Amino acid sequence: MTRLFTLSVLTSISLSAQLGTNPVSPMREGLNRKDAVKITDNIYQAIGFGNTFLVITPEGNVVIDTSGAQAAPLHVKLLKAHSAAPVKYIILTHGHGDHTGGVALWKEPGTEVIAQRNQVEFLNYQARLNRFFALRNAAQFDYPKPPETPWPGDEGAKQFATILFDDKYEFTLGGVKFQIFSTPGETPDHLSVWIPQWKAAFTGDNYYESFPNIYTLRGTEPRMALDYVHSLDKILSWRPELMLPSHGPVLRGETEIATRVKMYRDAIRYVHDAVVMGMNDGKDVFTLMREIKLPENLNVGEGYGKLTWSIRGIYEGYAGWFDLNPATMYEAPPSSPYADLVKLAGGPDPVVARALEVLQQGNAPEALRLTDAALAASPSHRGALEAKLKALENLRDRSKNSNESGWLEYSIRETKLKVASSQ
Ligand SMILES: [Zn+2]
Repeated sequence: MTRLFTLSVLTSISLSAQLGTNPVSPMREGLNRKDAVKITDNIYQAIGFGNTFLVITPEGNVVIDTSGAQAAPLHVKLLKAHSAAPVKYIILTHGHGDHTGGVALWKEPGTEVIAQRNQVEFLNYQARLNRFFALRNAAQFDYPKPPETPWPGDEGAKQFATILFDDKYEFTLGGVKFQIFSTPGETPDHLSVWIPQWKAAFTGDNYYESFPNIYTLRGTEPRMALDYVHSLDKILSWRPELMLPSHGPVLRGETEIATRVKMYRDAIRYVHDAVVMGMNDGKDVFTLMREIKLPENLNVGEGYGKLTWSIRGIYEGYAGWFDLNPATMYEAPPSSPYADLVKLAGGPDPVVARALEVLQQGNAPEALRLTDAALAASPSHRGALEAKLKALENLRDRSKNSNESGWLEYSIRETKLKVASSQ
């Protein structure tokens, strides 16, 4: 994941009990910590929105993920308090900013930085779309509008790795063997680290305490559901007794870990196969978004990833955007007749009245469609803006998903500005 996450504050064993916790300000998570957490005699964890792990060996240290730029200085300080020995390796589970933000702070002369080979292109992809992602991150997380940065070109990303590998890389340091495997899922460059002698698996972002974000609203190239399934199978094959995800709490115990990871894998497989069956049956994406539900025994929660977005992500990841409707083959957007239709309906007022009616009936998404139409006809219509605001706040108040509420908050701020300027 790249930004918002909250469930790591939860330590309850029951997965279902963790679902539905309303997320609050996760970006600051861990910033008030006074110490790192000792996981074993040799492994320490700095907790944050993204975790940083320090593995201590007699010949020097290994850092696994470095958190984001905001948390990284604190993580360095808290972990170095336990061992200031040279950092021989930094291993990046993938190239998202909440994992790479502290590389420069940890890197010393001679430190090797290990990444899966796809990281080169993945970092280029993120840099290629630098302003696109900067604006979207600022919107979702309520940052100030970022300063304009120059376009670095198609292959212009700052790279971190000094060692790149394809399928597997291993080294031994201070008598501790580190095995690193390509485990694509959240990103194509994703890797996982296995330390056989401690039965410890560092699993990055391929497992966290929510259904995965197979599509993220910030924007992403397709994330392949079956990649997650195969990568989780690989982790299960190690039979870890200690599992250290880069978001959320560390898991202990072979049975507990196997139970959770299998449930997670099976939930992803279930949704993937249901989408594929629906596609083969000729169903459209919106029908599948409404129809597919996780069975209770696979309900891993939706505090971060959301089923409906993942269903659409899987569908469009496989098939792209065309929905067989010739109207979508052309440049006119679906909203192009809105203004005409509103005029035919007698203007924005009756449309706004209908929006409030459907909102009253509990259908806030439909109310948003109607207010969109009214605003297409009359962009600063006060009533339409206020109805839109009500629908957004209704959705925000009911949301138990941190990404969803982040985007609703963004639109609420935007709409409030428009209401204010419509006076
Ligand atoms: Zn992440």
